[in-house]
Amino acid sequence: MQENRPQCRRNAFYISLIYFIVSVAWILFSDVTVASMVDNVDEITSLQIYKGTFFILATTLILYFLIYKYFRKMQSQYDANLKQIRKNREIKESLKISQGELSRYDMLLSTIVNSSPDAIFAKDLMGKYILFNNGAANITNADAKEMIGKNDYDVFEPEIAKQHRETDKKIIDSREVVTFEERNITKDGNANILLVTKGPLLDEFGEPFGLFGIARNITEQKEHERFLEESKEKFYNLSHIDKVTNLPNRLYISEVLAQKCAMEVPFCLIFLDLDEFKIVNDSYGHRFGDKLLFEVSKILLEVFDSNIFIARMGGDEFGIVVNLSDKKKLERLMQKLHHKFSNPFKIDMVDIYITASSGICIYPDDAQSMEEMYQASDTAMYKAKKLGKNNFSFYDEEFKKEAVECMQMATSLKQAIEKSELELYYQPQNDAQTGKVVGAEALLRWKHDDEMIPPDVFIPLAEKSGLIVEIGSFVLKSAFETVKRWRELGILNSRVAINVSARQLTHLNLIETLKNMIKESGCEASWIELEITESSVLENPKLVISLLEQIRELGFSVSMDDFGTGYSSLSYLKNLPIDKLKIDRSFIMNIRSEPKNQIIVKTIIFLAKELGIHVLAEGVETENEHSFLLENKIDSIQGYYYSKPLPLSEMQKLLEA
Ligand code: C2E
Ligand code: CA
Ligand code: CA
Repeated sequence: MQENRPQCRRNAFYISLIYFIVSVAWILFSDVTVASMVDNVDEITSLQIYKGTFFILATTLILYFLIYKYFRKMQSQYDANLKQIRKNREIKESLKISQGELSRYDMLLSTIVNSSPDAIFAKDLMGKYILFNNGAANITNADAKEMIGKNDYDVFEPEIAKQHRETDKKIIDSREVVTFEERNITKDGNANILLVTKGPLLDEFGEPFGLFGIARNITEQKEHERFLEESKEKFYNLSHIDKVTNLPNRLYISEVLAQKCAMEVPFCLIFLDLDEFKIVNDSYGHRFGDKLLFEVSKILLEVFDSNIFIARMGGDEFGIVVNLSDKKKLERLMQKLHHKFSNPFKIDMVDIYITASSGICIYPDDAQSMEEMYQASDTAMYKAKKLGKNNFSFYDEEFKKEAVECMQMATSLKQAIEKSELELYYQPQNDAQTGKVVGAEALLRWKHDDEMIPPDVFIPLAEKSGLIVEIGSFVLKSAFETVKRWRELGILNSRVAINVSARQLTHLNLIETLKNMIKESGCEASWIELEITESSVLENPKLVISLLEQIRELGFSVSMDDFGTGYSSLSYLKNLPIDKLKIDRSFIMNIRSEPKNQIIVKTIIFLAKELGIHVLAEGVETENEHSFLLENKIDSIQGYYYSKPLPLSEMQKLLEA
């Protein structure tokens, strides 16, 4: 504490001055006063003694108070000083302690900072590093000590350094701590992905004086994640993407449909099926077929917006999910689509005309679940096929009724055999020249509830439901027995033809069944002819040809039914192991007025003769048709011209005659 000497001097001076004035005044006036009061010298002497004593007493008292005050002040000042000294000492002591702690804390911090594998750094407002730990040095391939005072342009690629500078400025301005992923490339081309946390450095007034950052190298982790992601994607693609068209597959569309149904918003499913694709596939090969499917997928992508979900469901079927339920709009869309199929597809320099049929069902009006959507759109598609090729059709309640009726009929058909509702009719086949019966075809009839259901209706149903195998066995058994009887009676010395459906033909047990039938019935294979359709050969040519060879080896004769309707080329014929060709009724009808049919029939007859195959015309009704065929050297004729299909007893009578 500094002394205030002039003040002290001044104070002492004033006090002394007052004392001096009072003393002088006392001497001057007290003696005069005393002399005026008494005349006696003795009295004056004693009064002066009292006066002197009084003066001493007064000044003593004043001195006492002054000294007392002075000492009191001195004492309190001393106490205050002592207190301050003690306090200072205490502060000094405590400072000593916290300084020790501070240096320990410093050490701890720097140990953590430098042993951390993460980059820890700080920059001043100019972007110069004021802290750069070993972790940061490792990531950037820089020297930690040398980096102090340098900036990002000294370590990173200029573009990256520029980005850092911009980010840093934003963080300092916003005064917020942020965490983000960052791709870093050092000057020597080392690329890393970092998880960075950056924030501003603020002083005690909240003003920024720099920026701190912590960064973790997550390059490996990211690569691992990417690898996992890619593997997942690859796996997903493998199971969800169709390889031929690169479109989503059935599994994928099923997931989409299930999701859509769960969301309960209207949408529609278009089920598109190519017409006669199998024929293209079988005629030109699978690679060609795949190319065609790819071209079709291109058309679909062209017609529908990119946000519409298109999938290949398998084979020649496509599924399209559209967020539309307005029939008018859908109709326009479908017209546009089907119009595209009127142009040929050019594949391997070949122009291919292929059409498509599609069925549309709307959620939730027509169906409420994924399975129902499939079923309804499939039903609508079949309706479109029935309407004629390259058509589309909406699902409606009528289909449902039809489907239910179909199911009911399938159930009744199942019981038809047990209930003896099935019966074989026989239609004679006659020699074209002589008119003599040279064979017969067994044709199935179903008498159900006093109604005669035509085979055109129930045979496709039986094929679809798989009942055809059982029904086919009944036909074979029944025909074999009849043939055996007629042979024993000696009324028949020609073959009876039995229809074998595609499904029956490729059924595993057919050859075995035929062998057993021969054994059981006592029939000879050479008394029987098996009719197969052209389309069943086209469905699976290799398998069917080998089956036909086996059938012929057993001794049966084979004829090709409905010839001319299956689009197979005539040159195809020579590879088929067949004995007889049956020209379809559609070529015979009105043959006199149809020059094109005349050419076709003439060519078929010519070719069959060249190949040594017997040729028969089906559905001959009139004299006109008969005479044309006769002129063109047809071998035999089957048709109302000679006879309608007859019940067994009537056919027997005809043979006996
Ligand atoms: P499909 O094998 O072509 O049999 C010939 C069909 O033409 C028979 O019809 C016959 O009645 C009919 N038809 C014969 N001549 C004439 C004619 O001059 N004019 C007209 N308009 N029609 C004639 P159906 O009996 O109704 O049989 C229809 C089809 O059902 C058969 O055609 C055949 O594909 C199938 N089918 C019949 N029975 C069997 C069978 O036992 N098994 C199998 N898998 N299919 C059978
Ligand atoms: Ca037939
Ligand atoms: Ca036929």
